[in-house]
Amino acid sequence: MAIEFNDRIRRIPSYPIAGGYSLPDDVALLASNESPDPPLPAVMDVVQRALTGLNRYPDPSYADLRRALSDRYDVPQTRIALGNGSCDILLAAGDALLEPGAELVHAWPSFSVYPHLEAASGARAIRVPLNDRDEHDLDAMLAEITAATRLVIVCNPNNPTSTALPLDQIKQFVEAVPRHVAVILDEAYIEFSTIEDPDASLDLLKGHSNLVLLRTFSKIYGLAGLRVGFALSGSEEFVTAVNQVRQPFYLNIPAQAAAVEALKHQDAVTERVERAIVARVEIEEGLRELGIAVAASQANFCWLHLPETADESEVISGLAERGVIVRSGAALGREGALRVTYGTPAHNRRFLDALRDVL
Ligand SMILES: *Cc1c(COP(=O)(O)O)cnc(C)c1O
Repeated sequence: MAIEFNDRIRRIPSYPIAGGYSLPDDVALLASNESPDPPLPAVMDVVQRALTGLNRYPDPSYADLRRALSDRYDVPQTRIALGNGSCDILLAAGDALLEPGAELVHAWPSFSVYPHLEAASGARAIRVPLNDRDEHDLDAMLAEITAATRLVIVCNPNNPTSTALPLDQIKQFVEAVPRHVAVILDEAYIEFSTIEDPDASLDLLKGHSNLVLLRTFSKIYGLAGLRVGFALSGSEEFVTAVNQVRQPFYLNIPAQAAAVEALKHQDAVTERVERAIVARVEIEEGLRELGIAVAASQANFCWLHLPETADESEVISGLAERGVIVRSGAALGREGALRVTYGTPAHNRRFLDALRDVL
């Protein structure tokens, strides 16, 4: 007889795994929105030093990282949640807020982890289609909020479509959401946005106890492999709740040390943003030369719409044969699109050459 699992296991989708992890070294891995740069030497040093303490459990108050984030963002430590990647906080928020009968509102296509919150909790998700510029339609999302709504997620810039909305629109939206509904503003890519100062959204926390800014060390800080995320919250209650539903040791010792060190190197952050913007311009020009429509990116990746005549899966396998791994639009909610992370200059050129070839 087979093991009998609970009902959630039938509902929860499997995360779409990107290919490329057992390929030879010089493959252009442009499928997971990672940084193409290796960790900073200073970060590798502190990780090395942290290894000597691995016989101990991590500090369960994560005091060093909490303090460093509090200093940097001027948010009290009691309103900062940490996690094993920001996905850990996201899933914990679903656990803490949702249940059968409750509702969750988010855009679609948006981050592929959001549907997991619905399935894991048994809540009902309302997926609001993006507008024709591949942006969140905030008015349509507001219209979906009911007495049953517990959580609204806005992904800005949006994964997988790379578009961002200006803060004044976000602000109007947050002001219109009832105060008992939690709003998670997922800002995994906010540092790559040139619309305004990436930290401008922090001001919104002051008047909105239901707002949570979700951020990560996986993208601009280039530490995806260590898994560190954080949330800056308008209230202490959110932090307490997400900690209640998780194990105490969600952040390992090297990860915590690396994050504290990485925060000290804001000059490297600025350089990475500059390189991403150069890549953005080059890739967008290259795509336009090929006659391909591309969304207005404010992130470290682009979202392109293939010509009607092209078959998405053939394009993806053609690119893979040429040593370029990208993410399928169909797997992310829209057929006929591709999500392509900006890589090194050489990998970006290889992508454009390979795409020209395949089409
Ligand atoms: C990458 C990403 C995250 C962060 O994931 P981690 O768990 O911190 O690695 C969160 N939200 C979105 C939209 C992302 O694309």
